Amino acid sequence: MPERYARQELFYGIGQEGQKKLATKTVALIGCGALGCTSANLLVRSGVGCVKIIDRDYIEESNLQRQALFDEDDIKNNLPKAIAAKKKLQKINSGVIIEASITDLNPANIETILHDAHLIIDGTDNFETRFLINDYCVKNFIPWIYGACIGSVGITMTIVPGETPCLRCALQDIPPFGTTETCDTAGILSPVSSVIASIQAAESLKILTDNVASINRHLLKIDLWRNQITRLNINTLKESSNCKTCRNNQFEYLMREKYSSTTSLCGRNAVQIAPTNGSTIDLSTLASRLETIGRVSFNKYMLRLKINNYELTAFPDGRTIIAGTDDLSTAKGIYAKYIGM
Ligand SMILES: [Zn+2]
Repeated sequence: MPERYARQELFYGIGQEGQKKLATKTVALIGCGALGCTSANLLVRSGVGCVKIIDRDYIEESNLQRQALFDEDDIKNNLPKAIAAKKKLQKINSGVIIEASITDLNPANIETILHDAHLIIDGTDNFETRFLINDYCVKNFIPWIYGACIGSVGITMTIVPGETPCLRCALQDIPPFGTTETCDTAGILSPVSSVIASIQAAESLKILTDNVASINRHLLKIDLWRNQITRLNINTLKESSNCKTCRNNQFEYLMREKYSSTTSLCGRNAVQIAPTNGSTIDLSTLASRLETIGRVSFNKYMLRLKINNYELTAFPDGRTIIAGTDDLSTAKGIYAKYIGM
């Protein structure tokens, strides 16, 4: 379809040459929530060669307010976010390769998942994963775009290793757990995530078409309710911060042999348990074992067991999300009782 990208090729910053470059590039989106859905939609429509969607979760009704690739049928069909997004994106542009991974990015799998990505977009909801991405990208000289939203406020920063400060230059260390609000505790205005994801997509288009000179070099903060735009100058941070990651090449998040195998999913009253020994789950075998215990439904992507006040969702990669508690030991007990690995 020669007409498909006509308007984008007319734009002076891209042109036919830039369009050809886009078609050869692979972008990985870590997390397919509000930010991931919107940036994926924009990049797939723009004709990026391959878009990889990495997400660990399933769709809930409260996601539909802002996660633009999902609908009510996806929830009825028990589709994980990565699969629902892939189906929608493939309909939007059949010329783009869309890859879906239903998994949690961690130090053990990051190399395999991201090895062919030219650029990474942050659609995550936690700093542990962001610092892991930062380590990987700085080490391998891969650009990535940080994005986060809460309430009416969104923040973004573009990281081009070797050229700009990295996320750790700006944030030093992970904010102590519980001190940062999340969209599950403070809510979120959907236009904020659209704005931040649109900036992430625009930054991606610049980098992928070799227009790095045009990238945003500030920590950009936008508050759509109070009508405030703040641009924090971070140009000198790399020199002044003595950053562990980009000045001293200490990739501690990447080097972690042990990562959190049991994670409270912030504000969701749910806990994720992941096996550290790499074991996987055969969903049909598990289904036949659990059928006599409670109400079980499953497809090839996930299995769900409803029992008492809990809802267990198991994935083939070995993870189980237990909804109905945010207490780690309660969740481990339920896991041991029903999944039992
Ligand atoms: Zn740094």
